[in-house]
Order: sequence, then C-alpha cells, then structure tokens
Amino acid sequence: MEKAAAHSRILELRTILEENSRLYYVDNAPRMSDYEYDQLMHELEALEADFPEFASDDSPTRKVGSDLEGGFVQRAHRYPMLSLANTYSIEEVEEFSARADKALDTSFSYCCELKFDGTAICLTYRKGKLVQALTRGDGVVGDDVTRNALRISNIPRQLKGDYPEEFEIRGEVLMPYEAFDHLNELRTLDDEQPFANPRNAASGSLKLQNPDEVAGRGLWCTLYHIPAQSLDFESHDQALRAAASWGLPVSEHRRLCHDIKEIKEYIDYWDVKRKELPFATDGVVIKINEMACQRALGYTSKSPRWAVAYKFKAEQALTPILSIDYQVGRTGAITPVANLEPVLLSGTIVKRATLVNEDQMRQLDIHEGDSVYVEKGGEIIPKITAVEPSLRKAGARLPDFPSVCPDCGTPLVREEDEAKWFCPNSDGCPMQIKGELLHFCSRKAMDILAGEATVDQLFTLGLARTPADLYDLSLHQLMALEGWREKSAMRFRDSLEKSREVPFERVLFALGIRYVGETTAKTVARFFGDIDSLKAASEEQLKEVPDVGDVCAASIYSYFRDEAHLEQIRRLRSHGLRFGVGEAADKLSDALAGKSIVISGTFSISRDDMKALIEKHGGKNSGSISSKTSFLLAGEKPGPEKLRKCEQLGVPVMGEEAFLALLPESAGLSAQNDKVEQLSLF
Ligand code: NAD
Repeated sequence: MEKAAAHSRILELRTILEENSRLYYVDNAPRMSDYEYDQLMHELEALEADFPEFASDDSPTRKVGSDLEGGFVQRAHRYPMLSLANTYSIEEVEEFSARADKALDTSFSYCCELKFDGTAICLTYRKGKLVQALTRGDGVVGDDVTRNALRISNIPRQLKGDYPEEFEIRGEVLMPYEAFDHLNELRTLDDEQPFANPRNAASGSLKLQNPDEVAGRGLWCTLYHIPAQSLDFESHDQALRAAASWGLPVSEHRRLCHDIKEIKEYIDYWDVKRKELPFATDGVVIKINEMACQRALGYTSKSPRWAVAYKFKAEQALTPILSIDYQVGRTGAITPVANLEPVLLSGTIVKRATLVNEDQMRQLDIHEGDSVYVEKGGEIIPKITAVEPSLRKAGARLPDFPSVCPDCGTPLVREEDEAKWFCPNSDGCPMQIKGELLHFCSRKAMDILAGEATVDQLFTLGLARTPADLYDLSLHQLMALEGWREKSAMRFRDSLEKSREVPFERVLFALGIRYVGETTAKTVARFFGDIDSLKAASEEQLKEVPDVGDVCAASIYSYFRDEAHLEQIRRLRSHGLRFGVGEAADKLSDALAGKSIVISGTFSISRDDMKALIEKHGGKNSGSISSKTSFLLAGEKPGPEKLRKCEQLGVPVMGEEAFLALLPESAGLSAQNDKVEQLSLF
C-alpha cells in the first residue's frame, strides 16, 4: 500500500475503532461483532507495523478501551489493568508458545482458563473486608463501584482463613443466561430496549446508580488474577488456590497444561462444552503459570506478554440465499435484505438477514444463490458475515443492485459520503409515503391505531397520502371500508382524537424530518419552544442545539424550505395538533405533586397513557424502585423483581383502582375505557 493511502486508512481505522469502543464500553450497545472489531484492530496493527512513522501512543492499538463515565468517583489502579492479546487462530497460539519457549531458559507450564464474557473488576480486601471495587476504566483509573459490588451475591464482604493483610484480586462480573433472559423480559414489558447480550447487560448493571437495583440483577463474579507484585506466590495457579481457600469465587474450570497439544485439547473441549455453561464465555485464556517467568516476559503498553486469549468465533450457521429484496425505507434509503433458507442459530430460526448496502454486498462478493455464513453479532438482528466459495454454483451471477427504485421506478441517487442509495421521489414513491404515514402513526410518535394493513388500505384507495389526510376521514368513509365496522372506525377516530394531546416534541418526531429521531426531537422542541421559531431558525442557530450537527441542521433547515411541508404543518395545526411546548392545559391537578411513582404491569389504559396521567396530576414517573419511591403503581402482572424490591425497601404498592381514587373526583374514574378521554376534557 502507498504511504498516503496507508496514512488515510490508519486514521479511518482509528476513528472507526474509537467510535465502536465507546458504543461497546460506555453505551453497552455495540454495532459490530467482536470478530469484525478484532479484524479491524489487526488491520490497524499491521499497518502501524509497516508504517511506524504513523504510530501514535493515542492509537487504540496501544491503549485499552475505556469504560469510564460520569456519575462515579474515579480512582487510580495500584497496578495498571490491561487487556489481553487475542487471536482467533490456533497457529498464533503456537507462535505465542514458541516465543515463550525461546525467551525463557527454564521449563514452565501454562494455566488455561475460560475467558468469561462479562466486565472486568478489581477488588481490594483489607483485613479480610472488601473495601474497594473498581472497573477497569481506562486501565489507569477506574470507576469506583464498591457499593454495587457489595450487592453481588457471590462476592464475599468478609474473607475466611489465612488471608493477607491487604491485597487486590481481579476478575469478571457476569450475568448468567437465566438472569439475562429474565431482565430482558422485564425490560420488554417496561417498554425498554432489551440488552443485546449478557456482556452488555452485566456491564450496564454494574454501572447502575442504585445499588438496590444492582442487587436485583442476578450478577455473578468469578476471579482469576492476583497482581503478582502484591503477594509472594510461586505460580498463578497457587495464587488462585489460596484465593479459593479465603472464600473467594475462583473458577474450577482451569487446567494446567504442559505443551501445545494439551492446550489444544483444552480449547477443543471447551469450544463444545461451553454451550452447556450457564454463563457466556468467548474463548480461553492461556497464561504462563510461573510468576518468575511472567516477570521475565513483562508487559506491552496494552497487555501482558505472558498471556494470550484464544477467542471462539461467534456461533455461525451456513445457509443458502434464496433471493434478495431491496427494501425502500421511509427516508427512501434502499437496504438489500437476503431471504434465506430457514436455519437454526443460537436457539432461533433465522429466515432473513440484512446485507446493509451495496458496498457491503460487493465486499462480501455475494453471488446469486450463494451459501452464506450468518452470525448474531453484538446486535440482535442477524448479519451475513461471509460467503462459502466452495458451494458457489458454476456460472452464478453477481446480483444487479437496482438502478431505479424497486417501488416507483425513479432513478436512485447516492450522495457523496452516503453509504446507501436513495430514491429521491419522496413525495411520490408509495413505499416512502406509506412509511411516512406508518411512522407518523407509530406508538412513539402520534400513537394512532393504524398498522401496516390500514395504512396500505387507506393509501391504495387514495384516502390518505399525507398525515393530515387521516384527520379528514369521516366516520362514514371509514365504516364503508372493507373489513371495517363501526367499532373499529370509532377506535381509529378515538386514537386520532387523543393524538391532539400528544406533546410538541412527539409531533416534531412524527413529522419524520431526516436525522431527527426521538431524542433530537425532544432537544430541538425544548430549545425553540414552538414550530414558528424552529421554522425561522438559521442553520447556525440550529447547530447551537446540543446534539444537532451539521447534517442534522441542514436537514431541518431544508425541511422548512419545502412548501409541501409547510402546507402539511398548516393543515395539521388546523386539526388541533400541538406545535408548541406549552400549548394546551396539560396540568389537571396537583393531586400527585411531590410523588415519585414507578409503574409496572398492564393497566386498563396503555402504559404511556398512565405515565401521562401521572404527569398531568403533578406526579413524577421513575423507572426504578428506590427508598425515594412514593409507591409502585401495579397493574396486572407487575414485575416480580419490582414487587420484591418494594417489600425489601418498604415501598407501598397500589392497584389501579386505589390510584384513580387519589385523583380529583371529576377525574376519579370508574368506567374503564374512557379514562384518559374524560380527564382531558376536565
Ligand atoms: P478482551 O475482552 O479481548 O480480553 C481482556 C479481558 O478479558 C480482560 O480485561 C478481562 O476482563 C477478560 N477476561 C475474561 N476471562 C479472563 C481470564 N480468565 N483471565 C484474564 N482475563 C479474562 O479485551 P478487552 O480489552 O476487554 O476488550 C477488547 C475486546 O472487546 C476486543 O478484542 C473486541 O473483541 C471487544 N470489543 C468489541 C467491540 C464491538 O464493537 N463489538 C468494541 C470494542 C471492543
């Protein structure tokens, strides 16, 4: 590679790796698989080795990914907390062993251990008591999570036996599969985004601000390293045996190996057997056992030279592509999606997988009818990671990426810096129009009772092309539609009626301005206060809003320069939708003033409506139970974890009926169906 090209690729890789490191360690929401991340890291390492003039101490190849975040006191580690060199190839494990052989002029053994897939922790015990727990942080300082660690059931507060006066021990905090499934079930019930995998769940849970909540997460700890300097052990294995005798949780699954053959046996055994473990592992760690040898080999800036992690590849399935669909999103973006011969992967049947965009298809070298490897990466949606070339049929063609919109036939465009092709016919492309309508009606936007089938029907019959058209539909028109009855028409109209109460920030989100998601809509709405001020804002003023960058500012600015959009807003406004933060009398009473309320379970009205009701009466919604919670409002099937916590902390639990009785009489409802309607009339 030429020098200039290498330099630009190095910079690009550093940016990609740093961004994904933040998503992984801080947001606990990775976008790429570990394998992809590691491949990019290895590419960067190789380029930096070939072009040492571009090496930098700031490069992700030289420092550990940081999990530091605000909200915790940060403390320095006594000994740096490093990462591990990792590989997916057995040959590189052989090379590691050969290097150690060469460097050490004494015989030595290997301690092979499971590589637990959680988040690292460093515990300090003084006089047998747990006094400090730090996360790895950036390796030099960590977040102090002592209060949380004290609530992890298998971390002893007090040691037994002949423990040293003071020492550190390191290990991993994990979330076993059972606790993970349970947590995700509760999160789904509570309308929260489920965690993508147990690692993210463990790391997110360890960083909760409320130790009571941590206690309910079912976390578990396993310890695997006493920093050598602190105690005088001859071997790593001896140190771990001592730790176990003091009552510390140390894994029993380690094994002493003497050569590469025994190491391979250990790897092969656990590659299969790990599927039976109740927690996630992502490889094995091979450590040189003798402390003197560890000291002789030393460390790089990022990892010890006396250990290597052999990582298992994520579970994959091989299956043929039956066909490729090109989906048109509501913004006009074209996404290729492969229809697959159904295949079982990590417990679920996979039938479709995204091919992301044209570049990705070309990079994977996808041909028609190819058999492909499917993997569940950090995300929940399966991804195609590679093609199996040996199964390619003779004469298989490259699929033609469409040059025109598969829905409306308009020539596609691809702007500079965009990874996707777009259909520019935003006002005429049926898929985009229907996508916009669906988005407008979605629960997080206007919450109008219209799913895909209804939108399709209304669009096909020419009854709705824009959101404002929905408000023009008469009961008579609706009842005349195939499959509709008076009841369904009334329910649809009721939901339109209720949407007039939806706050400005959600109306703004519902308009579907490109790059304006739920959170941005909220900040923008609060910043400008109403649609007229927003419409009048220059791009520079828009950029003053936190989180609004150049692209988003340009998109908002141009949205309001389109006469069709302004006409749409005029019509929606005439239908009574809210276009200002303070519009309409939101507040109904102060009956719940000063109360912090957690809701759980299902109610006779939607959970969002229940939350809105609480706010309308001056109460505050809170997501988790603490000693400050005034009461838990429990509907049907409340979360058992929340009930348990209430009992523990003495927080009262109240049913829906008792709750409604707290509200002013005219709002104290007995009829089940029209609660919110009546309240908003009040
Ligand atoms: P790592 O997870 O590859 O290995 C080091 C860690 O392993 C240690 O810090 C420790 O926490 C853990 N570990 C588990 N069992 C152990 C044992 N028996 N002995 C010693 N340590 C053990 O390295 P890392 O620095 O924590 O993370 C880097 C890795 O994280 C990358 O290689 C990548 O796979 C993943 N990552 C993924 C993304 C993504 O977007 N998917 C982003 C950043 C990092």
